[in-house]
Amino acid sequence: MKRPVFAANWKMNVGPTEARAYLKKFLPRFNRSTDRTVILIPPAISLTTVVDEIGSRRKDVLVGAQNIHTEEKGAFTGEMSAAMARDAGARAVLVGHSERRHVFGEPDAATTVKCRVAFANGLIPILCVGEKLEQREAGKTEETVLRQLRAGLAEVEPSQMAGILIAYEPVWAIGTGRNATPADAAQVHAVLRAEIATLSGSSRTAAAVPILYGGSVSDVNASALLAAENVDGLLVGGASLDPVKWSMIVST
Ligand code: PEP
Repeated sequence: MKRPVFAANWKMNVGPTEARAYLKKFLPRFNRSTDRTVILIPPAISLTTVVDEIGSRRKDVLVGAQNIHTEEKGAFTGEMSAAMARDAGARAVLVGHSERRHVFGEPDAATTVKCRVAFANGLIPILCVGEKLEQREAGKTEETVLRQLRAGLAEVEPSQMAGILIAYEPVWAIGTGRNATPADAAQVHAVLRAEIATLSGSSRTAAAVPILYGGSVSDVNASALLAAENVDGLLVGGASLDPVKWSMIVST
């Protein structure tokens, strides 16, 4: 059994001052570091604060960035490169989160470059895929997530694929209070894992890739979702903003 991964996407919440207060509550409550991995994903402005507060004592809690630009540097006001995120202490980065895709119009092609650039700069990409409600209702869930998966992995070497994380996040479940059922999640995760085996040419690689479920995960539904087949962890937005609730979820 793989170590479950619990990733907290704070989105545009929790500035540096609040981040310090959050960690003072969360860190003493998380003591399962030997059998699970926690990734905190704050907004860029809080990245160094979170890294500093975690400090060198807690190597078990990783920090991730919410986004990177495709370029290394230059005239891209408001953006952050992969090298800068790594320099600030990030170890992972969300790629293709549904809000990047559907609020900011990020195309599949950008996820291709971002996964490559993340690896090139020592960041673990957390590639997010998921269908919109109309795609699900039209029977296009698998087609949608497979297209997104193939785009994200298009420039990742098969030998690197074991180092990626995938998050299945149905768009209709994000922030809505309506989570996928464990059976729905298991079905899509199995499809994703089979495709990773094809793309990497290795079922061993596919088995090693953690596939997280995200979308209205709470302290109430976390254990059932985590128990589903092929669900190796959880990516949590809203419920990760409360350090006490988050500590309960990571103890699932
Ligand atoms: C997310 O933003 O990745 C997410 C899953 O949000 P929520 O848990 O609030 O649905």
